[in-house]
Amino acid sequence: MTSKEVINKIDKFTFSNYSRYPIAIKKAKGSWAWNFEGKKYLDFTTGIAVSNLGHNHIKIINSIKQQSGKLIHTSNLFYTQEQGQLAQTLVQNSFADKVFFCNTGTEANEAALKLARKWGKANGGKYKIIAAKGGFHGRTYGSLSVTGNRIYRKDFNPMVPGIKFVEYGKPEEISDALIDDRYCAVILEPIQGEYGVIIPPRNYFKEVRKICNLKNVLLIIDEIQVGMGRTGKLFAYQDLGFTPDIMTLAKALGGGLPCGAILAKNKIASYLKPGTHGSTMGGNPLVMKVGCTVINSLLGEGILDNVSKLGLYFLDRLKIFQNKYNKIIKDVRGRGFILGIELINPQITNDLVKSLYENGLLTIITEKTVIRILPPLNANKYEIDHAIKVLEKSIKEVLNA
Ligand code: PLP
Repeated sequence: MTSKEVINKIDKFTFSNYSRYPIAIKKAKGSWAWNFEGKKYLDFTTGIAVSNLGHNHIKIINSIKQQSGKLIHTSNLFYTQEQGQLAQTLVQNSFADKVFFCNTGTEANEAALKLARKWGKANGGKYKIIAAKGGFHGRTYGSLSVTGNRIYRKDFNPMVPGIKFVEYGKPEEISDALIDDRYCAVILEPIQGEYGVIIPPRNYFKEVRKICNLKNVLLIIDEIQVGMGRTGKLFAYQDLGFTPDIMTLAKALGGGLPCGAILAKNKIASYLKPGTHGSTMGGNPLVMKVGCTVINSLLGEGILDNVSKLGLYFLDRLKIFQNKYNKIIKDVRGRGFILGIELINPQITNDLVKSLYENGLLTIITEKTVIRILPPLNANKYEIDHAIKVLEKSIKEVLNA
């Protein structure tokens, strides 16, 4: 098959709800991917923050092979060794006592919102939720209702009631909203990935934590995009001086298989009693086995140090570009291996991303003017240097066009 044939078939037989790059991937290994004609790409999209160990990591392949020959699915009618193992690993490496497993990010946030409302009902009948403008939490109705970016919501009203949006990074807006004592929770991302890699002031979460404590309101942290090592800690909150009440995870947790989770302390988790929530596929042994492999690799292969060290190196190089090419680059920002280059307009952003993929580097456009770069967390210095070389080549091409 040719790339063109693959693309034509997808366009003909699937819904047109995605705006895809005109690239068909045939195979991939580590940080690299190939199309059907053998063109090689440095893949710094990681399938939108999913393949954090790179493509086809040997330990993930082996886990899938072993587990698929043993037990793939049972449902939660039964107990499996693998589910207990991943839950224990998550608990031992976080603030939490308990884990609930589902399959995707949006499902994890649905579960967190339901848990918060169940807790709120028992704690004074509270049901309202605060979320941030610009935030992204998923596409199903609960998650969509707390997604601050109007673009995602506008054609699907009415939303779930009781949601208030505040400015991200401004704790005083949360404090003001909580004069109303019907709020049960605040939901925030540690970094707003979809909104253009927006990083709030360093003490933001400490302040929000204090306010939530004072008002007896739960703090839900959505680590679906930037958890699982992307900021250089296993979880982003661990570097921000606070502890959430509920954390949601997905994307990289399943190493490319669908997996979501929420984590909480016993005193909150205990509100989800039998029958209140569930998932047929959630926590299936195949995905659980791979989840354990992902976390053990992140913790055991020096990957978090790699992210911290090379993340700073990458950002420094991008800052040099910002100064050198300030005619088209407005800002660069990032933490660990989530980096953003903000361009001066959407046309230049499109032209640059197109030139990048033509020159063999895959990145993601977000919010029309930001190029988001999400390398696999085990990308090496050679690969980062290669990306920097391609970036400079493409910037020059766009400038000279
Ligand atoms: N939350 C955040 C922060 C995300 O970035 C995303 C997806 O990009 C989601 C939730 C939704 O995850 P999923 O696409 O797995 O439903």
